[in-house]
Amino acid sequence: MRYISTRGQAPALGFEDTMLTGLARDGGLYVPETLPRMTRDEIAALAGLPYEEVAVRVMAPFVADAFDETTLGDLVSRAYAGFGHDARAPLVQLGPNHHLLELFHGPTLAFKDFAMQLIGQMFQHTLARRGERVAIVGATSGDTGSAAIEAFRGLDAVDVFVLYPHGRVSEVQRRQMTTPDESNVHALAIDGHFDDAQARVKDMFNDFAFRDRVGLAGVNSINFARVLAQVVYYFTAATTLGAPHREVGFTVPTGNFGDVFAGHIAKRMGLPIRQLVVATNQNDILHRCLTTGDYRIGTVEPSISPSMDIQVSSNFERALHLAYGGDGRAIAQLMEEQGSGGFTVSQGALETLQHIYASGRASEEETSRTIADTLRRTGELLCPHTAVGVHVARQHLDDAPMVTLATAHPAKFPDAVEAATGIRPSLPPRMADLFDRDERITRVENDLHAIETIIEERRA
Ligand SMILES: *Cc1c(COP(=O)(O)O)cnc(C)c1O
Repeated sequence: MRYISTRGQAPALGFEDTMLTGLARDGGLYVPETLPRMTRDEIAALAGLPYEEVAVRVMAPFVADAFDETTLGDLVSRAYAGFGHDARAPLVQLGPNHHLLELFHGPTLAFKDFAMQLIGQMFQHTLARRGERVAIVGATSGDTGSAAIEAFRGLDAVDVFVLYPHGRVSEVQRRQMTTPDESNVHALAIDGHFDDAQARVKDMFNDFAFRDRVGLAGVNSINFARVLAQVVYYFTAATTLGAPHREVGFTVPTGNFGDVFAGHIAKRMGLPIRQLVVATNQNDILHRCLTTGDYRIGTVEPSISPSMDIQVSSNFERALHLAYGGDGRAIAQLMEEQGSGGFTVSQGALETLQHIYASGRASEEETSRTIADTLRRTGELLCPHTAVGVHVARQHLDDAPMVTLATAHPAKFPDAVEAATGIRPSLPPRMADLFDRDERITRVENDLHAIETIIEERRA
């Protein structure tokens, strides 16, 4: 399979190079040139299989030039072996026709583990075969950094450096980044905000001499390999609930649009998804755009669901590319307008988007109320991101089963959950000693040269 850039001006690549490259050279995002379709019988045959087996059947056509099925099977097994649940992504019922898909049984208690654990194995396998080594550098407001450190710890072809804003991540998030003791993973606490961390990472990628010297690579959510890993749980959930004989709906707490776009791919592959509902918090630019066609960038309002606090939603570009019929020139134009404040989606493309995506938003108050109310009605504790999803899903229930993606464990956001319910959620037993483990903290000033020096000294 070949991958092309959403902006149409970068060379097409195979899966391996798409994964290692991340962002296309024309500033666009890689997408498959065509999507493989699964037949009704092939989809029906997935029901009841182990998660790993479904993962191989769904992903094999996308990665065939890089991994044969046996290798892919090995990588998938290794990726999910550390999960705390045999089903990997179990379903829990919330109401007569409403289900939660629990995506928080991985090592850092959020759905990002599904993609990050697999991309860790894929990078390691590919780099070891090529005899290469890379330094992965990323900025994090908490969830992505911990998932990356967990995924790459101990892998010998990769060093990982995560920049997080000092004093501005939760204690659970910080400890998940600072307690792994393998010598190839490094958490750097930068004196500044998340935006400073992100800006310094961008500076490093633009410092071409440094970039080549250390073999800089990125694994942020625009990497297509991450989106691909997330397609799998749409298939396991839908076939468990009766697909392909029955249509299923999904509601997805959304920020950078990677998770919900994976659902779009599943639908295009033939999975009968009736509704795909984008749920946003008070930072509702996506909901407004899907309703009116207007994508107008404002300022981020910090919320109790911080992983969805965005104004620029990177992966939305991939949905636009499909809605514009693959017209790279049109996408490049929209993204240029985005850089100066926003854009308006054409009438035709908006209708295409609305055909696939419904949307809704939850205010802070509605999010808290949903956490309390769900506990009362079902005994389930929701993380605030999941609560945004449940609130929006309830407005879209119909006669097809609705699945809301539970994107994080409530214990990852204990303050918001306690404020809503009076109950402080506890960590799963397998992580109960997180607060007793030793931390390694490296403080670094908000200065490109200082950060680059640490990276050069620390990498193997
Ligand atoms: C990253 C994240 C999201 C948003 O997912 P996107 O793929 O960026 O839309 C939602 N909830 C949690 C807990 C997250 O960590």
